[in-house]
Amino acid sequence: MTNIFGMTLVQLQETLKPYKVPAYRSKQIAEWMYQKGAGSFEAMTNLSKQLRETLAGELVIGRPNIKARLDSKDKKTTKFLLEFDDGTAVETVLMRQSYGNSICVSSQAGCSMGCAFCASTLHGLARDLTTGEILAQAITINDMLRDEEDGQKVDTIVIMGSGEPLMNYENVIGFLHLVHEPYTLNMGYRNITLSTSGIVPQMYLLADEGLPISLSVSLHAPEQALRSALMPINRKYPLTDVIKAAKNYADKTKRRVTYEYILIDQLNDGELQAKQLANLMHGQLASVNLIPINPVVERNLMRPSKERIDWFEHYLSTHHVTVTVRREMGTDIQAACGQLRNKHLSD
Ligand code: SF4
Repeated sequence: MTNIFGMTLVQLQETLKPYKVPAYRSKQIAEWMYQKGAGSFEAMTNLSKQLRETLAGELVIGRPNIKARLDSKDKKTTKFLLEFDDGTAVETVLMRQSYGNSICVSSQAGCSMGCAFCASTLHGLARDLTTGEILAQAITINDMLRDEEDGQKVDTIVIMGSGEPLMNYENVIGFLHLVHEPYTLNMGYRNITLSTSGIVPQMYLLADEGLPISLSVSLHAPEQALRSALMPINRKYPLTDVIKAAKNYADKTKRRVTYEYILIDQLNDGELQAKQLANLMHGQLASVNLIPINPVVERNLMRPSKERIDWFEHYLSTHHVTVTVRREMGTDIQAACGQLRNKHLSD
């Protein structure tokens, strides 16, 4: 059976040719799959019964099962564990923000990057996700919002769940194109953010794709040794090269780059790091997003005090750095990336 979920309209038309399905019907089938929640041909009531039966005999619409769903107490955050055909499970998070519904999708099951603060990497990389599997996360949540929350929709997407998106480059680029199509979510590129740990060659490739998405770079430390200790990938692609590639991205796309900086108690929240970080940001079209760490029990990494977080933010803002502190969402439902999946793996 061929899975058609994740196909572009052109691919779908090609696949449906042997069944003599006209082009406008292919478009209707795409809309059923991507916009109307159809999980089977049976649901596609504007196709003839005979065609539906024929297609159902040879093609399948591979959608993930919702294996677990957790809602935060304040109802603002919902986390899903989605399971694909082969039993691979990934996390997707919905955050109901003041500016709209934002989702965080995974690009790989697990991750091989080994960042010290991250639960997604504890079991290594299971596999890359396909374009369709990345899209399925967005579609699943969009369907839920439409059906359960008065016709709402996904407004913004961050590719910041488990996995390093630039290590799964082709599938992620395929996803960016597909989710932008009018027959899927019609998502504006400017409403999409891709987050990378700093895979330098692919950062240059991405800058040349001509897709005006936002780039977010996981920095987490302002100098070599500390960054290598927190993020092993820094040994392969050192901080200075990452910054150069990020500047190139900003130059080419005219988009402001965001540097993510997880604040960890006693590790990267000192005066020295604040000063180094401010120096590093000097003259860049960039902003810094401070993220007080969701404590990772397995790694004994703790969150700084509120005073410390405020001090760090104040230092940067008074040294000409555009800075924000990420609002806490969903800590009561283990919203830090990878924690729910790990629980599932060890159950
Ligand atoms: S932070 Fe991102 S890149 Fe680093 S291990 Fe976790 S999922 Fe991978």
